[in-house]
Amino acid sequence: MDMQATLEEIVKAVAPLKGQGTVASYIPSLGGVPPEKFGICVAMADGPVYGAGDWHEPFSIQSISKVFSLALVMARDYDSIWKRVFREPSGTPFNSLVQLEADKGIPRNPFINAGAIVVTDRLLTLTGDAAGSIRGLLRQEAGNPTIDIDATVAASEARHGHRNAAMAHLLASFGNLENPVDDVLANYFDQCALAMCCEDLALSARFLARQGVSTGGSPFLSPNQSKRVNAVMLTCGTYDAAGEFAYRVGLPGKSGVGGGIVAIVPGRCSIAVWGPELDANGNSVVGTAALDEFTTRTGWSVF
Ligand code: GLN
Repeated sequence: MDMQATLEEIVKAVAPLKGQGTVASYIPSLGGVPPEKFGICVAMADGPVYGAGDWHEPFSIQSISKVFSLALVMARDYDSIWKRVFREPSGTPFNSLVQLEADKGIPRNPFINAGAIVVTDRLLTLTGDAAGSIRGLLRQEAGNPTIDIDATVAASEARHGHRNAAMAHLLASFGNLENPVDDVLANYFDQCALAMCCEDLALSARFLARQGVSTGGSPFLSPNQSKRVNAVMLTCGTYDAAGEFAYRVGLPGKSGVGGGIVAIVPGRCSIAVWGPELDANGNSVVGTAALDEFTTRTGWSVF
């Protein structure tokens, strides 16, 4: 297969879908991102990297950061996070408060906001700098020391992050935060505001296609932990649309409201796509379609 040609064909195939979604605007500084952008990158487990479209343009990774915070916590703490977070699909939007009250402060999974806030809290306890340790992992895996937090996006979300603040306070009221609410939220907003391009993102997530082996060749996660992170991505990584995403794409994936999605073909490659227009569940319209095209054309799926 000619991977480069395949990616260029996918860029053409998904172009007509532009205009069908909406750029996230509840974080005001994300609202100004040009909606027509689209990039795709494939990082092969054994080294080669391919890309097409706007694959070198940085974007806000938002909830994709939740994969890296979970991996960092599991690497240090093994399984203890699962006493504080479930790992079931939520069936509610990523920012819903409703379940958290009924479930007595234990979030349904680490990829909805409530669960991610608990994971960030744990990472803050373990490292003293949750967002900084995620940035360190991304820089190391992508081999790019310029990857950074977009301070404007972080400040914009902090100013308008009432729902996340409510969630963090509710978690604290149930005794499910170890650190002060303000410190946890600051780290959470910073990690969501990390900016990187498709190439950096595909390289950063590649350890999940390599049974946990990092870019430098050392084990970051065990094969077993890598399997588990992929499993949670498959069942919970695209929120309410995880069933639809599994049906269409057939891969573990994690989306963010910046329009990025990272998907893993275990043993083969990691894939990053970016298209800012979102569907009603907060997943990139063009990005999901491109991943559907990718697995359909290559036959590379976990099913
Ligand atoms: N920072 C965003 C929020 O908390 C992340 C949500 C997302 O990407 N789905 O609302």
